[in-house]
Amino acid sequence: MEKTLGIIGCGAIGTVIAKAVDNKIVECDKLLLYDRIFEKAERLGKSLATSTIVVKSIDEMITFNPKVIVEAASQQAVKEYLNKILSHNIHLIVLSVGALLDLGTNIKDYKIHIPSGAIGGLDAISSATLAGIDEAILTTRKNPRSLGREDKDEAVVYEGPAEEAVKLFPRNINVAATLALAIHPTKLKVRIVSDPNVKRNVHEIKVKWKYGEMFFSFMNEPHPENPKTSALAAWSAINLIKKLLAET
Ligand code: NAD
Repeated sequence: MEKTLGIIGCGAIGTVIAKAVDNKIVECDKLLLYDRIFEKAERLGKSLATSTIVVKSIDEMITFNPKVIVEAASQQAVKEYLNKILSHNIHLIVLSVGALLDLGTNIKDYKIHIPSGAIGGLDAISSATLAGIDEAILTTRKNPRSLGREDKDEAVVYEGPAEEAVKLFPRNINVAATLALAIHPTKLKVRIVSDPNVKRNVHEIKVKWKYGEMFFSFMNEPHPENPKTSALAAWSAINLIKKLLAET
């Protein structure tokens, strides 16, 4: 099968993925690009040496029979395109993970893939979930700029359940959604802190489970074009794309 990859959303993450294809980090025969702002896809396509087709719709993308489509657009895009893509038996990598929490989609569908995104450790956390998690807390600390705020001092912007955080901060809290899906049905508590003293996007995860405790800490550089997004999110998608395209 030809290794064709489709990218929905040619912004910060979509561009990093397309460049990874161009730099042969991902082995891919044909690249399909779609953005609701056609010029963004066109501009990205023109900047690449790889064989690229810029399409005008998801329907057009599907006619090229891609093996994998990666969504790097918005929660709305996931809601609009998910069923159509899955009905054509195409692997779908979802970055706007909050949409899945919202849709209550059956994420057990083996063609839906959720990259680890801006964090890691999900393997250990999922394993602990099977035995039983007593408490899981995510503290996300970002510069006020990344949260669209102008705080001069540290401020707790939100404290509460992941499901609500995802709705209130759709562009900022994919990590909460990814964790919430991994440890479901355990309740995940989320704290979002606006901190003028940090330049990086910091995610700290504390888990108390039946046989021990875990503590993970990630300090990610924000993407220069979109400070809400951590570069690691794009690279986690690239890692997953490589694996899925390599499968026969
Ligand atoms: P971005 O704003 O830089 O780019 C998004 C692009 O998608 C834009 O060019 C926009 O025009 C396009 N777009 C939006 N809705 C669309 C639609 N319905 N159809 C087609 N194109 C559409 O955003 P980004 O930083 O690249 O992030 C992309 C997505 O990934 C966001 O939803 C973001 O919240 C999410 N994200 C996930 C993680 C994670 O850990 N899973 C981390 C960071 C960002």
